[in-house]
Order: sequence, then C-alpha cells, then structure tokens
Amino acid sequence: MKYIFVTGGVISSLGKGLTAASLGTLLEARGLRVVFQKFDPYLNVDPGTMNPFQHGEVYVLNDGAETDLDLGHYERFTNCVLTRHNNLTSGQVYETVILRERRGDYLGKTVQVIPHVTDVIKNRIRELSDESKYDVVITEIGGTTGDIEGLPFLEAIRQFILEVGPQNVINMHVTLVPYIKAAHELKTKPTQQSVAKLREIGLQPQVLICRTERPLDRDVRRKLSMFCSVSEKAVIEERDVEHTIYEVPLTLHAEGLDQLVCDLLHLETPGPDMADWRKFVERVVCPSKRVKIAVVGKYMDVRDAYKSIYESLTHAAASEDCGIDLKLIDAESLEHGVDAQLKDVAGVLIPGGFGPRGVEGKINAARYAREHNVPFLGLCLGMQVGTIEFARNVCGIKNVNSTEFDKDTPEPVISLLEEQRGVRNKGASMRLGTWPTNIVKGTLAEKIYGDTEVTERHRHRYEFNMKYRDRMNAKGFVISGTSPDGILAELIELRDHPYFIGCQYHPEFQSKPNKPHPLFKGFIQACLRQQTAHATHVRADQESPHRVLERELVPQG
Ligand code: GLN
Repeated sequence: MKYIFVTGGVISSLGKGLTAASLGTLLEARGLRVVFQKFDPYLNVDPGTMNPFQHGEVYVLNDGAETDLDLGHYERFTNCVLTRHNNLTSGQVYETVILRERRGDYLGKTVQVIPHVTDVIKNRIRELSDESKYDVVITEIGGTTGDIEGLPFLEAIRQFILEVGPQNVINMHVTLVPYIKAAHELKTKPTQQSVAKLREIGLQPQVLICRTERPLDRDVRRKLSMFCSVSEKAVIEERDVEHTIYEVPLTLHAEGLDQLVCDLLHLETPGPDMADWRKFVERVVCPSKRVKIAVVGKYMDVRDAYKSIYESLTHAAASEDCGIDLKLIDAESLEHGVDAQLKDVAGVLIPGGFGPRGVEGKINAARYAREHNVPFLGLCLGMQVGTIEFARNVCGIKNVNSTEFDKDTPEPVISLLEEQRGVRNKGASMRLGTWPTNIVKGTLAEKIYGDTEVTERHRHRYEFNMKYRDRMNAKGFVISGTSPDGILAELIELRDHPYFIGCQYHPEFQSKPNKPHPLFKGFIQACLRQQTAHATHVRADQESPHRVLERELVPQG
C-alpha cells in the first residue's frame, strides 16, 4: 500500500483538493486503484450545518455523509466512490476520544493529543489500507501548515511515515510562489518558510507543487530545490489554468508529476492514457456552440455554493459540444417580475436550498419557464418550488405552500411525512444519501434515463404531499418517479411541456466528465432545441474560435 499526504503552505485556497484530485486522475489513468481521504482541522463534527457563504456547498456521499466540497472533486476526477470514512474533521476525532474517555476505555490514564488523538487519526488512515481494493491512498490535510488546528494531523502523519517506511509514503506540499511586480520576480521565500514549518514538525516534503501565475524558470526551480531539500525535478509548476479546472491533470502530467510520484513510491506502471480526458477538455475549451442558462438561487456571489451543479452543467454541455453562458440570478430579485431577467435564457435551473428567503422569486421563475415552454430543471427545493407553482397557478388552489415556509398553510402540497399523517411537531431529521427511485414507464424521465430503476443522492426533509397527486395529475402534473414503496415522490414532470423536470434528489453529485448525468444532459439538449426553435435572441455563437489541438492544451517546451 502506498500513501500520499497532501499538505498546503503559505495561504489557503491554493486548490489543494483539485491538485490531489488531478493526481488521482493521472494515477488511475496509469492503471492504479486510488482512494482519497480528507482531513479537516476544524472542530465542527460534520460540515453539514456550515454556512454555504463561508464554506461552499455541502457535498453528499452515497452513505449520506455530508462532507466538504473537495470530496466532490475526488469523485468527479476519478472512479472512486467515497463514504463517511473518507472524511475526518477534528471535531470527529475529539468526539471519538472524549466518548472513549467517558466510557472508561482509557482505564483512567491521562488522555492526551499524543498518543490518543494521533492514534484515532492514524487508525482512520489504516482503515483505508485495504490492498484488495486500493493501491494508493491520497490524504489531503485541510488548512495551511502553521495552523494550530492542523498540528495533530501532521504529527500523526510523522508517526505514520515511521511505521510504514519512507519508501511507501510521500508528502506533496502545495505552495504559493508569488510574482512581485515591482521586482519583476517570482519569490521563493514564502515556500521556504512554509517548508521550514513542516520540518519543525518532522516532515520533509518530497514534492513541491508550486502554484504560480508565471512560469518557474530554471533559477527559481534550483533555488526552491536547494532551500527546500527537494530534487529539482520534484519542483512542479502548477500555473493558473486558462480555461477550466479539467486542464490541471494535463498540465501536471506535462510537468512529469505522475512519473515522479510513481518513481518515488516504487510503482511500476505504463504511462497514463489521457486521450478521453483530453478530448473532454478540448470540448470544454472550444465548443462549437453556446447556450445561455439561468441559475436562480440564493448564494449567487459564492461560486462554490453550487459547485457540483456548475460542474454537472459543464459535463453535460461538453457532451453536446456546447459551451454554457451562465446567468446567475439572485432569487430575491425576481420577486416582483421575472420577464426582464429571463427573456434571454434558453433554460432555467433552480438548485436546492433551505429556508424561505428567495422562494417566491424562484416560484416566479418556475412559472415563467412553464408558461414560456422554457426548459426547467428543479433540484430538490427546485422541484418543490415547481410543484407549489403548479398547484397555485394551474390547479388554482389558494394559499398553497410548503410547511417549511408557512407551517400553518391550509394547503401543504409540500410537507413533512409526519404532518401528512397528522402527527405534528415530530422532529423530522434529514433524509440523506442514496435511495432508489422507480421511474414510471412512458414518462419523459424514463426516456431521459433509459431505465426504470435508478439510485440518487438525497439531502432534504420535506416531501410532496400525495394527497394532491390526483388533482394535480388531472391538470398535467406527473409524478414520474417514486420511492419503491410508492410513498415518496422522487421525480415530477409536466405533460404539456418540452422539458419541465424536478427531482427530490441531487443528481449533481453523480455527474462526471465524459459521464454526464442524464437529467443534465437532457436539460442541455432541450435548451439547445429551445434556443434554435424559439429564442432567436440567444444566438449560437457563429464565430466560434478555431478548435484547439490536443498539443495546445498543455504547455510546450
Ligand atoms: N428545504 C427543502 C427540504 O428540506 C429542500 C432541501 C434541498 O433543496 N436540499 O426538503
């Protein structure tokens, strides 16, 4: 078993997760079986309750774990399927230790960071060490070297290296090499200092990934190598990518990262086959047409808040050789009229969300999409919003709402299951993780999926209220997918609309490059049809630039 620990230096937001994921892509393309693990040094027990403004989206795994969005990068960039065992926060570590102490497991000994906390961390790495399943474990340590919170993790790694032997482990340090305009120079000092910090704790990186705006010249490489005790060929340049994050594996490969890692870990494999990946990147970078899509949500200024959705749109669009112009609309701005903002888009997507803010604006957007035959994709809350809109404006039921937004609504078309059964005030907890959906034959959903049984990831509390099913169905509202017992609505669509789909789950967590999710793919196809048929103002870009050749996607020379 081989281990790669990814640490970060100088500042946060260097794209450590993306770098780790990209290395995973390359190792998989060399035929290795890769698994990831993320250690988050904050004290929250899980990221599920963290504010998207601060933290970006909550990424949900098959087993229902609510995790950091870096796990989304790992799953999108590789074939690995992660569970709660692949994410560990300091909060979880301390919770484990304190529970053990309360149970008396430590037999009255003094409970300490070393060995008790570090043992919990090391055990979590060992739990993944299943040689029948994986060849390489890539563990990313969140935060920046020098943070107090991160120390127990780094100490655990130091001990772990001692236990498994240096030939089986590398530390890859992702660092910043800033360009100082006044001096016309790239500066190596921050990296030197952050490596010195690592050494203080007893860790010596074998690979430096240098995030930089400018190419690293020979002198800079030599200097970094000499001061940081890293071989010169292990000073890897990771320049800001020009177009898309999916270029990162290609640029790292061009820098020789995957060969270097294999050499350091004594892994003998053939070179990576990146042909499909390159083709995908080429389509993202240089599509032959474009389509304009509105995303109507709450956190429009925080790009990471809907990360998986934007990625899923990219995957689907690339499969149609199409680029996307995203129009990000704050739902609250649609509360008093939508036409001005939606008239130039070929599709409307409403993401998930919690709480009443912006809901009326989303309902207006769903109405616009329904009335103008504009393709609509409603994810989780987006589906609930589409449902409320239909019940109000097509079925003419007054005061329809979800009990999430009006707990005393006389017409709870969306509510908690307990409420539907007449039980009030039962603390309903979240329905999380993968659940099966049976798709009704003959529906648009069946056509899109090409299947009648699918499994998708969930994260919600409220449900469609089946009491309204017949009344709404009579007007053209179709429940096209349900839980196998038929109790929960999972998918809805409108009979008289080219593409109005809502799902109670989150398909965005299962889309990958070259494997777009059917609901997103269907949505983009419908948007393209809409664009040519109706919205002539959303013209496809006639002057699409020349197509990029494969070799132009990686820096030459
Ligand atoms: N707030 C809604 C619910 O709890 C939708 C959740 C979501 O969009 N993830 O059911």
